Amino acid sequence: MSFILFALLSTPFTQHIIQKELLAYKCNKVIPAVIEKQVLIALSHYPELKGTQIRFTFTRKLKGSIMAARPVPGSLFKKRKNRIYDILINPVFKLEHSFETIRQIPDSVMVGWIGHELGHIMDYEGKSTWRIMGFGLSYWLSKKYIRKAERIADAFAVNRGMGRYLLATKSFILDHTELPQAYKDKIASLYLSPDDIVELVAELEKENEHKKEEILQEEEEVVREADMELRSGG
Ligand SMILES: [Zn+2]
Repeated sequence: MSFILFALLSTPFTQHIIQKELLAYKCNKVIPAVIEKQVLIALSHYPELKGTQIRFTFTRKLKGSIMAARPVPGSLFKKRKNRIYDILINPVFKLEHSFETIRQIPDSVMVGWIGHELGHIMDYEGKSTWRIMGFGLSYWLSKKYIRKAERIADAFAVNRGMGRYLLATKSFILDHTELPQAYKDKIASLYLSPDDIVELVAELEKENEHKKEEILQEEEEVVREADMELRSGG
């Protein structure tokens, strides 16, 4: 009996325990407590963003999307390392007949979603201020640009080993019977499809396999050469 009581009392705490290694990714980040664990897991796939200033903020102002990543305009005129990025998150999303809150979203779906937004930040990090401004304009003006940017963000996440999470996010959106069809159509036309992701993951695995083989071959060659040198010398 006392064991059950202990288990009941201790669950809320264990749920909030975040692995120590993950806490290292909190540097220069502002993260709402409800999604802290999921955000840190996503961040752990992007070690180069460890010191980057990113604010994860809940807002009800996003129109037509659930999350968005953007640089803080004023920070663009500072040195590149002083840039600040916002990842805006709508904590409530409208369903056909009801609402769903961020708390109801499964962990893997949230991790994949944040992983995609961090992909946008990686894309921004590689761009100069002028290119970001031009990019912003093109994003508003052209559907082709939006498609390209969304695919880059997805590809970043897949390349960082987040394929499984991303697939969870896609199927959550595309198979969600209660999400507005217009939103699902938008996601389907602009983002990588689940099949695209599976293909990318397979390509990545093949590439890694190939690299491993190359390294093995190189090692063998070095050993062989050393052998020959030893033999000819002795
Ligand atoms: Zn996006």
